[in-house]
Amino acid sequence: MKGKVYIVGAGPGDPKLLTLKALEVLKNSDVVLYDRLVNPEILRLLKTGTRTIYVGKTKGEQEEKQEMILNLMEELVCEGYRVVRLKGGDPFVFGRGAEEVFYFLERNIEVEVVPGIPSCIAVPELAGIPLTFRGCSSAFAVVSGRKCKGEVQWSNYVNVDTLVILMGVENRDCIARELIKAGKSPEEPVAFVEKGTWKEERVIFSTLEKVAEGVVKVNPPAVFVIGKVVEIAKILKKSAEVVTC
Ligand code: SAH
Repeated sequence: MKGKVYIVGAGPGDPKLLTLKALEVLKNSDVVLYDRLVNPEILRLLKTGTRTIYVGKTKGEQEEKQEMILNLMEELVCEGYRVVRLKGGDPFVFGRGAEEVFYFLERNIEVEVVPGIPSCIAVPELAGIPLTFRGCSSAFAVVSGRKCKGEVQWSNYVNVDTLVILMGVENRDCIARELIKAGKSPEEPVAFVEKGTWKEERVIFSTLEKVAEGVVKVNPPAVFVIGKVVEIAKILKKSAEVVTC
């Protein structure tokens, strides 16, 4: 049988946020290589006998590991297996999914993409934060916070109503300072949603100024939301632990 690669989004965590298509592909797969952000509960949905391989990357080994993962997938698919690369959220949102598609296309290997529910939208949403709201936010931007300086010009985002920063926990103080320096109000409401849709979900409310001062404690992974829409969560939110700093 001819092998095939599937680049699949697992959604933000809760298995019920998988798409029907993702579930179908997972149930028909032979091998699943999964990321650190994939909830292990999703792996329980696989048929017995499916091989699972954890390929979560830690800091400093990203490049080597990515190459190793692609080589391993290539080997498996050439042996005739249906190989799933299962990624947190959506594979094309800071997920290197498109690079992986290129890799297989270049080698004439059949590859299919299955979108996932992205954490940048669903995680704030389920914490009660709409990214747009009539009269309050008519635009949002999703920005990488992996590096505070160099990669991103924070001044470009000062006038965007709602900012959603992924991979920004470590650099949160620096990001907040840069945004204030570029003209964002220090009183701007912010929220961090840690491990959104997982059982351990925690929501932390604060202001940009407090984050800049370094007094807001957050653990990764978290979605960092900046904007007036954060206030709406206080009306919409019913469950989960809510902490105000
Ligand atoms: N492709 C992924 C994002 C990869 S970048 C997606 O679409 O969701 C990884 C970052 O996403 C994390 O550092 C964090 O900022 C965010 N993230 C992903 N899942 C999350 C979750 N369940 N709760 C909070 N943040 C999450």
